Amino acid sequence: MTDRYAVFGHPIAHSKSPQIHAAFARQTGQDMTYEAILAPLDGFADSVTAFIAAGGCGANVTVPFKEEAFRLSSRLSPRAKHAGAVNTLMFDDGILGDNTDGAGLVGDLERNLHCPLAGRRILLLGAGGAARGVIEPLLDQSPAELVIANRTVGRAQELAELFCRGVRACGFDALDTPFDLVINATAASLAGELPPLSPSIFTAETLAYDMMYGRDTPFLSFARTHGAATADGLGMLVEQAAEAFALWRGVRPDTAPVIAALRT
Ligand code: NDP
Repeated sequence: MTDRYAVFGHPIAHSKSPQIHAAFARQTGQDMTYEAILAPLDGFADSVTAFIAAGGCGANVTVPFKEEAFRLSSRLSPRAKHAGAVNTLMFDDGILGDNTDGAGLVGDLERNLHCPLAGRRILLLGAGGAARGVIEPLLDQSPAELVIANRTVGRAQELAELFCRGVRACGFDALDTPFDLVINATAASLAGELPPLSPSIFTAETLAYDMMYGRDTPFLSFARTHGAATADGLGMLVEQAAEAFALWRGVRPDTAPVIAALRT
């Protein structure tokens, strides 16, 4: 029987994950299907249970169910524990919860964008689920500095205290020195908004990275105007999918052709 996988979210019609995993399956010769499932806002656990009963082998989880998936998991990988959220489920004798978002970001930065992180000054904007999921994987690359800035400063401080390891927290108004890498993990781009940033955080050596993908954002446009190189989060999306695929199927797909195909 063909192995079944899915992505659960609400909304879900926009998801590129079925296209990405179909490309990985073709490339690696895996006999599997991957579908998008719209789970009711109050029915995520029931949807997952029904999928398992129907022979599901694993799943991705997206907005707004990542914290619920964390609670639903009977076992957690260390990186899911750190992230406090789960974006990948594997069904065996229980439910294994993993989080591949951070590995996806680091993989995109280092492999696709040739942006080494060791010794670099990194600024992370935002303190929501996406920001929390990438802190530990970023710290594992030994940056010179990691600063978390958020609109609500208290949330950034909570994250800095949770991870320790020299992480500094502040509000946007305290940012006035250049960084090598500025990662926008706020949801501002979703609303077409720009966090109130000083142009002095960007130089010609800065890479400005927006986790949002699919369109140019006010953040990327602002960074470009002030001399920075820019990248969107499409590579992160494909890399986190590859990490999930490798967990499920034991084979790592080549992401470059899939990213190139999605860009056209
Ligand atoms: P959350 O809702 O958990 O967090 C939202 C964060 O954005 C908070 O820090 C919030 O600040 C901040 N924020 C919201 N609006 C504004 C604004 N107008 N100005 C400044 N700050 C603002 O969202 P997520 O963390 O889940 O997602 C964040 C982004 O990351 C989304 O764009 C999402 O699409 C993207 N993402 C991309 C992935 C990829 O694979 N490329 C994977 C995961 C996420 P406050 O605390 O003050 O409310």
